[in-house]
Amino acid sequence: MISLPTHKTKIVCTVGPASRSSAVLTGMMRKGMSIARLNFSHGTFEEHERDISEIRAAAASLQRPCPLFVDLPGPKIRVGALENEAVLLKKGDAVTITTLDIRGTRSIIPVTYTRLPESVSPGSIIYLSDGFIELRVEDVTGNEVRCVVVVGGQLLKGKGLNLPGAKMLVPSLTERDFELMEFALKMGIGIFGISFVESAEDILRAKEFAGSRGKSIYTIAKIERTEAVENIDSILGVTDALMIARGDLGVEVPIEEVPALQKELIRKANLCCRPVITATQMLESMVDNNRPTRAEATDVANAILDGTDAVMLSEETAIGNFPVETVEMMAKISRNIEGKRRSIRSTSFLQNLLREELHKGKITVPDTISLNTSEASDVLDAPFILVPTSQGMTARRISRFRPESWILAVNEDQRICDFAFFSYGVYPVIMDASGDEWSGDFVEYLKDSGLVRTGERIIVTEGKYSKEAGTDSLGVITV
Ligand code: ATP
Ligand code: MG
Ligand code: MG
Repeated sequence: MISLPTHKTKIVCTVGPASRSSAVLTGMMRKGMSIARLNFSHGTFEEHERDISEIRAAAASLQRPCPLFVDLPGPKIRVGALENEAVLLKKGDAVTITTLDIRGTRSIIPVTYTRLPESVSPGSIIYLSDGFIELRVEDVTGNEVRCVVVVGGQLLKGKGLNLPGAKMLVPSLTERDFELMEFALKMGIGIFGISFVESAEDILRAKEFAGSRGKSIYTIAKIERTEAVENIDSILGVTDALMIARGDLGVEVPIEEVPALQKELIRKANLCCRPVITATQMLESMVDNNRPTRAEATDVANAILDGTDAVMLSEETAIGNFPVETVEMMAKISRNIEGKRRSIRSTSFLQNLLREELHKGKITVPDTISLNTSEASDVLDAPFILVPTSQGMTARRISRFRPESWILAVNEDQRICDFAFFSYGVYPVIMDASGDEWSGDFVEYLKDSGLVRTGERIIVTEGKYSKEAGTDSLGVITV
């Protein structure tokens, strides 16, 4: 069954206390949620297990795809437990950071990184809570780092701590990450966000670990460290997808560099057919309000014009007061800007750029076909491009050119379909497309379900003439 969303940009929703109920999940899916993200930094195994089954049940009840990925925490340093819900840090206050496992107050705050005293020295700057709070180190003794508050604010338990420029004394995948991954693999999860990636090695280690458990996984490399930005080409060589994790990125690199980095990372990901998710603070003010700021609405639209495949909600849906309304708003902004992409000419720019880049390198048969498929679908005003695909790659190749039509990626395997859904404008169809009759039958189905009308064109692109060349044909069916 095909129930097409009204927008082609994928909306990733972090599921948390505000959204884990079946009612809210169903509400978010109805309003345009495409993908669920579980942040394994927060919560217990029991909660994760329940969340996973609730998400699957909600998607099944609505008969629509909603793939789910697990975000592994990585070596993120976090604030430990607090005596109260929150502590208020004021400018000029003295505050001690301790590596001991205690309950924090406004004068002493526990953190999860036991080697913190080795990583800082008097004068070092410590950021808390995605950079909102700034501390300056005065003195380091034993387990304690004594600081003064430079920029104050309210601090919640579990919030992150960043040390820009400091060398991390722990690997990107920790023992804890492997434990969490083991659990998630058992729950049938096949897509993982890898935090604080530094190099391609980190991605390969995650894949190897899954391999040792007899599983093959898709990885989303979270770009949030300077090292990852420097190693982006080799990371793109091995990862399946990218996330521009602007929360930590905006603390680890100067915040004014984030806008240009976002555009550059998206462009690179587009070129090598890796779906890319733009994350953090997209509609942040909707945590507390039922409408976003103009700047936020514009940020979502601009990320889409930059070429992002997916936009992500974090706090907004995890702990916000308006999770369903936020998804609805994001879907409206997406739909609106998608319809104007051509007149704003962002895509022709992207298409030309891609064309140039493709021509610079060795242009392959599937690249040529994907470019022409996209153009043919636009010229013929085809509502659908049918793509039987063995790994989903052909669908991703076409998606890069952002055609106006839906790209129906056809494969028998749920796992391949789930990941294909991450790309802009791709909708998976779980079906065997190996026989000769499949496209005729499928077109009948589209007609019967009212998705196409007599006289409309459908584009079919598949590997037909030579096994080795991959996708090598472009056909037009007139309904
Ligand atoms: P990351 O660096 O991976 O983005 P984060 O701490 O910023 O980690 P987000 O997933 O961006 O986490 O979510 C934003 C906030 O929402 C978190 O800091 C936390 O306060 C809350 N949150 C998210 N998921 C949960 C959950 N499952 N349980 C409790 N709180 C959660
Ligand atoms: Mg975050
Ligand atoms: Mg992060």
